[in-house]
Amino acid sequence: MSYDINKIRQEFPILNRKVYGKPLVYFDNGATTQKPNSVISSINKVYKDINSNIHRGVHFLSAQSTDAYENARRVVKEFINAEHIHEIVFTSGTTASINLVAFSFGEKYISEGDEIIVSSMEHHSNIVPWQMLCERKNAKLKVIPFNEKGDLLIEEFKILLSEKTKLVAINHVSNTLGTINPVKEIINLAHKKNIPVLIDGAQAVQHITVNIQELDADFYAFSGHKIYGPTGIGVLYGKEKYLNTMPPYMGGGDMIKTVSFEKTTYNDLPFKFEAGTANYTGAIGLAEALNFVSSIGISNIRAHEKALLDYGTMKLSEIESLIIYGNSNNKTGAISFLLDNIHHSDVGMILDKMGVAVRTGNHCTQPVMDKFNITGTVRASFAMYNTKQEIDILFESLNKILEMFS
Ligand code: PLP
Repeated sequence: MSYDINKIRQEFPILNRKVYGKPLVYFDNGATTQKPNSVISSINKVYKDINSNIHRGVHFLSAQSTDAYENARRVVKEFINAEHIHEIVFTSGTTASINLVAFSFGEKYISEGDEIIVSSMEHHSNIVPWQMLCERKNAKLKVIPFNEKGDLLIEEFKILLSEKTKLVAINHVSNTLGTINPVKEIINLAHKKNIPVLIDGAQAVQHITVNIQELDADFYAFSGHKIYGPTGIGVLYGKEKYLNTMPPYMGGGDMIKTVSFEKTTYNDLPFKFEAGTANYTGAIGLAEALNFVSSIGISNIRAHEKALLDYGTMKLSEIESLIIYGNSNNKTGAISFLLDNIHHSDVGMILDKMGVAVRTGNHCTQPVMDKFNITGTVRASFAMYNTKQEIDILFESLNKILEMFS
């Protein structure tokens, strides 16, 4: 199938917007992606046609919204090729998914002196929940370092793995460096010692194929809004054997079977972990987003974004005083850089006036900044709808900024 970029772009109404009278070049996809018409209209349709609280109603609309919500769970299951539908828990996003595991798995399985391994290229949301757990339980956090190119040091990981290790939590793709980590190898190494692995897939599912059964991940977390879906919805995949033994994270409606003051019994999976009114609108929108991605094909998206990455890296490298942070051979389309000695937020603000939206700062990865001894970078991150022409605009704009500062 040929990749019809114009047709794809037409599906995203916001791409027609102008900012400061200039065509929008949106390169802040790592932070959040834009939404296609089908997602926008599915949310509209929920509120126009079927809105009703799920699971608890006996009436027509409640049955329809419940069906749509549970169908969304099926779409997620199929998208990541999970074994069981009840292994898919809807959350509000990656952060919520990781916190759920940190609390609930932590309650059951972490004790004083235990160790949890993360890497030094994690987003804060895959660091802080584990630090909080370690504080509660008097456990220790161990950190896998990475090299100048932005690749994890797997030999160091092997040394860190021990009988004290109770969990490994690692990102599939680094939001700052773009590195695609060898998570399959990491999972295999951990499993040899019967250690479960949580994968933060916030920057992976929208760019590369994720096959949970093939990876054999024990937990996998991602956010709807980064894969062309709505905000406020996310997914926690968890292996049945762990989810069944973990205590609930939050108490409330829907997560119980019976409640009395003497004893409350909890609901079956996945409802045990979905207390309160679920974001059914978000889940339905997310399913639409995943269907949209599937209709284009994740491998076609990967090929398109890889071409953008290669072109972007080549163009930006033409600027002598520009340094790229994150040069792994295995990357998604994210380029973090500094221009000459100009502060990253100055570059970001001037690019903005030129119509180019990028992210600046530490990208919620302060340890990555510390490693390079910098305070932040400018990050251009690509999505299925970006073009080489847009990269040319970025390139020309950066050259103009250099002239302004010279
Ligand atoms: N993990 C990674 C690698 C991310 O890039 C992000 C967001 O940028 C998160 C976790 C947190 O995602 P959310 O804010 O949607 O919960």
